[in-house]
Formats: sequence, C-alpha cells, structure tokens
Amino acid sequence: MRRSMLFTLLALPTAIASAADPALTAAIARDYDAKLLPLFEHLHRNPELSFMEVKTAARLAKELREAGFEVTEGVGKTGVVAILKNGAGPLVMMRSEMDGLPVLEKSGLPYASTVVQKDMSGRDVPVAHSCGHDIHMASLVGTAHQMVALKARWKGTLMLVGQPAEERVGGARDMMRDNIWKRFGKPDYALSMHVLGGLESGKINVSESPYSGVDTLEINIPGIGTHGASPQTGKDPVVLGAQIVMALQTIISRELAPREPGLITVGSFHAGTKPNIISDNAKLELTVRSENEETRNLLLTAIKRVTLNTARAAGMPENLLPEVKMTDDPSLPVINDQKLSARLKAAWIDKLGPGIMDQKYKRASMVAEDFGYFTREPYVPSVYFTLGGTPAAELEAAAKGGPPTAMNHSPLFKAVPDISIKTGVETTVVALLELMKK
Ligand SMILES: [Zn+2]
Ligand SMILES: [Zn+2]
Repeated sequence: MRRSMLFTLLALPTAIASAADPALTAAIARDYDAKLLPLFEHLHRNPELSFMEVKTAARLAKELREAGFEVTEGVGKTGVVAILKNGAGPLVMMRSEMDGLPVLEKSGLPYASTVVQKDMSGRDVPVAHSCGHDIHMASLVGTAHQMVALKARWKGTLMLVGQPAEERVGGARDMMRDNIWKRFGKPDYALSMHVLGGLESGKINVSESPYSGVDTLEINIPGIGTHGASPQTGKDPVVLGAQIVMALQTIISRELAPREPGLITVGSFHAGTKPNIISDNAKLELTVRSENEETRNLLLTAIKRVTLNTARAAGMPENLLPEVKMTDDPSLPVINDQKLSARLKAAWIDKLGPGIMDQKYKRASMVAEDFGYFTREPYVPSVYFTLGGTPAAELEAAAKGGPPTAMNHSPLFKAVPDISIKTGVETTVVALLELMKK
C-alpha cells in the first residue's frame, strides 16, 4: 500500500512541508506535542462508561474554555456545548463522543486503561476507550486551538459538542431533548468523524451512508407448557421459535431488492428450563438495520407478518400469538449530504492532496451511530467521515498473513494517536475553513 503524502509528512516532521498549508501542519504538530498528546493519554487512562462521563466532560469543558470558547455543561445529562462566535456567518457544529466501553483493554500500550467502573446495573466492569473516542476528543480540542488561532480567516459561529453515550445510542437523543438547537442555535452544517481500525492512518474516508438505522426488537412467543414426553398435549415454543428464526431469514433474501441494504439478526433466543419440560414461552431478541424509511417499514412489517403467521401455522390460537415489540428507541441512519460531501471532498483534496482520501470503503458496514439524531429532524446537511487509525505498515503486514488488525471495540484496539489526532485536526480545520471562509 502506498503511503500518502500526509502520512509521510506527519511521520517525519522534519520532512519537506506539504504544498497545502505548512503553517497549519506545523502549528498542529506543536499543539500535539504540548497539549494534545498529554490530553489523549489522560483520557485514554481514565475512560468512563456511557452517561457516566462526568470527569471526562469536566476535562473537555475545561480544555475548550481555556481555548477561548463559551462552554455549557450538563446538556442532555453529561453533554458539553462550546461556542465561539466570530461575527455574522454560518453556524457549524462538530461533534465528538466522550464515552468508553465495558472492555478489558489488552492493547499493551503503556497508557492502557486499568479502570473498573460500576455499570448501570451496579456490576463492576472494566472500561476502556476501545472505540477511539479519546482520539476524537483530543482532535476536538486541537481543532478549537487552531480555529481560535485562525479567527482572521473565518466568520460565523463554531459549535463544538462533546456528546455522551454514543455507545448506548442515547446521548444525541438526550441532547436534542434538552433543546440543544433552541438554546445554542440550529447549525447550518454538522460534522463528525470516527477513527477506524483497518483504515490507513493519515487518510479519511467519506461514504454515502456511513451508518445504518437500527431497530431493536423483542419477540415473546407463548407456548402451551407440558411434559417433554407428551408434546401432543401442548405447543412447543422452542420449535415454534426455531421456525420463526428460520422464516425471518428469507425476508432479506426474498423480499428485499438485492442491491438494497438491510439486515435482520436474531441475537438471542431464550426458552425452557429443563430437558423434559416443554416450556410455555420463548423470547427472541433482534437487531434490524436499514438505511431508509421504506426498507425499514418493509422489514418491520414483514417480521410481524412472518412471526404471527408462523405461529398460526403451528396451530397457536389467536389469543396466544407472539408479541413483537420495540425495546429501545430506534437509531436513525447517518446519511451524508451529497452536495456537502462533494464540497468537502474537493476542499480536502485541494488543501491536503488526493492522498488524503481513502477509496477502499465505498460503503460502510451496517454498524450504528446516533449522530443521525442531530441531522434528520430537522434536517441539517451533514458529513460524517472516517479517520484512519492503523499505520500502513501494519496493514501491509496483515495483508501478507501477519497479525490481523484489531478493530474498534476489540480489547486489542489501538489507534495511533500521533497521526490520527493530527489528521483529525487538520481535516476538521480544513472543512471548517471551507464552510466558514471569509
Ligand atoms: Zn465509536
Ligand atoms: Zn463504538
């Protein structure tokens, strides 16, 4: 794999400066050494679980306040909103998440987390920044520093947001419920980025729909309990549940157009207590993913139809049909605004060279993210881009049969802070200057 110009430049700070904006690159490198690296290491060592990002939020607020922003804390539980006004012009929002994950870190990094925290159910769990939200926060603070220094080159209002609970998919919703737009203004544009294991560091990727929408369902299947040796006297919910699981598989394969993204996974199936008892209930838990309302409705309607009619076919009476219910708020898909994507891609290539763009991922996987809460209703043109987190050399070695690259959420996940944070700041600043230029 070829190294991008930026990668080479950042890896070797004494190399010839890029044609783009050598002063900006150098300023980011200085800030990284002085402030962003220590901040990143502190955040990495001290992760907190979703909606418990109390110390993290306080630190982020302090950093943004010191940078010169007007900061409000406690927006949507632990959310942080930092505002910098610079005359009349567009309001642009950039978001970073703040939460860690219940993961026992095995990265081997000298600053690896050893934190244990009580989760919402009171259980002690290990916590780590295994999704790289610490990279995002350090980049957000770096962006704040550069945008203050570059005030002469832009106009408008910059809104930097520290969002809680992305991993639980609830933080963006809660900030919206806390009237973030009413209190601080509705953005003309919204941006976010995510560091990604497996994507070459020093590069970014912009796909059409980085994240899908998610519905979380539970199907409760009543049975008629009886002795395991006399099945004819009952209705077995294990057999019925198994039939429903299999019948659900043909919704995607036979009802959805082949080029349309959609996913149904039955992630859990619980029933019964003992080999010789036919249980009187079974429970399935599903994650259902789609990228638009039409597909979402198709999948949800079909799941209900297939479930009820499979039960009917098994001879279940009408008063004992399964119940399909949503157990969590749906998460909306993250769809990049096409016009804005084209504008920012052009700016990134123009300012940072074509090597900045990774073209490997044309479409992202169907993982979820709650940024859509900020951008769907009301609509805010937005771009969500991914930031490389793995050095080219490591990717090359993996491609040749070496150790596989640890992905986000893995206990082994480690994004390279140096190049990821510097690229995060540089690409964000370039995007903001494009949108807010004088
Ligand atoms: Zn994440
Ligand atoms: Zn994550």
